[in-house]
Amino acid sequence: MRETARAFAQKSLAPIAGQLDRESRFPREQLRELAELGLMGVNVPEKYGGAEAGPVAYALAMMEIAQGCAATAVTMAVNNMVAETLCRFGSEEQKARYVPEITSGRFEAASFGLSEPHCGSDAAALRTSARRDGDSWVINGSKQWITSGDRAGLIIVWARTGGNGSKGISAFLVEGGARGLHVGRHEDKMGVRASTTVSLSFEDLRLPAGALLGPQEQGFGVAMTALEGGRIGVSAQAVGIGTAALEAAARYAQQRQAFGRPIADYQAIRFMLADSATELEAARLLTLRAAALKEAGRPFALEGSMAKLYSAEKAIKACDRAVQVHGGYGYIDEFPVERHYRDVRVTAIYEGTSEIQRHVIARELLRE
Ligand SMILES: Cc1cc2nc3c(=O)[nH]c(=O)nc-3n(C[C@H](O)[C@H](O)[C@H](O)COP(=O)(O)OP(=O)(O)OC[C@H]3O[C@@H](n4cnc5c(N)ncnc54)[C@H](O)[C@@H]3O)c2cc1C
Repeated sequence: MRETARAFAQKSLAPIAGQLDRESRFPREQLRELAELGLMGVNVPEKYGGAEAGPVAYALAMMEIAQGCAATAVTMAVNNMVAETLCRFGSEEQKARYVPEITSGRFEAASFGLSEPHCGSDAAALRTSARRDGDSWVINGSKQWITSGDRAGLIIVWARTGGNGSKGISAFLVEGGARGLHVGRHEDKMGVRASTTVSLSFEDLRLPAGALLGPQEQGFGVAMTALEGGRIGVSAQAVGIGTAALEAAARYAQQRQAFGRPIADYQAIRFMLADSATELEAARLLTLRAAALKEAGRPFALEGSMAKLYSAEKAIKACDRAVQVHGGYGYIDEFPVERHYRDVRVTAIYEGTSEIQRHVIARELLRE
């Protein structure tokens, strides 16, 4: 899986990632090719069109794709997360109907609709409502920051069916283009610009009773389980972007001359490269450990949060150092490190900010 992902990322993504970023162009054809390679359902059973290769293979593949193009990796990550969530919580009918559409690439993308304009970290405060009306559910409300929300064939939407807090929340399957589903404006982002991020609103969106995903009022658990796994994916993304920046910095340091010598001869530069290489290696191992625990069917909430926290923060640092190694050329778009620096920043924000990861880690620690 890693070799397949690496070959594709280096041949078909890395050479065009800069252009996709500049044009904010959704990598439609590239995503279709990823689906053909089995990368839209790495940890999804073959029965539903997945590669059934497991969480470790997924993490390795994600590192490679992110190294080639972070925006493509984000889209791939959400597709995999939605497909896995359906496999875990969906009825047989829901799985058979939707998962093969995602893994095959027939759906351009799939989306995860949890965050709202007034709440991201505190997802249990969400206000989107789902009201029962005969055999239907009627959804009203809005979502914010939804990756691929304008492209998705399927969106998991979390809405309140009961009282306040996490216990009143249920998950629903909403098809792209449904009546009552409105796509808002595209966010003009700092990085991962070739992925789309939109707001969504629901105006009396009517769903059949069968659109409920998992048991009623247990949707919050569905979201938290999905995000636990998703954190391994974001951690792997961070490692991939950081590695791309480190490799670019090492290359540049050997070419660029200052005071009659390659800058790679100077200890200040060598130490920056050494620190980034060491930290990224540790990040890679934390990511793979969390993935291995998941693969073994063991708890991994603590390890997943540690991996995401560490990988995001160290990859951000590695990208910062890579810009520094490039001097003025690090600040313009002629070299890829300027893009890596922008792309990597979001890994400390989405699927739980670094502060939220610290909460999870402390909670697990104090429970012990
Ligand atoms: C590019 C992008 C793509 C995204 N894609 C999706 C998607 O597909 N689906 C989706 O549902 N969401 C998505 N998100 C939303 C993302 O998950 C949220 O932005 C994130 O969870 C943070 O929520 P917030 O923006 O509301 O920040 P807030 O929750 O308002 O946090 C603001 C600040 O306060 C801190 N903070 C909050 N609570 C605490 C606390 N208890 N203790 C200490 N500090 C705290 C945070 O760490 C942060 O620094 C995306 C976001 C971005 C930027």
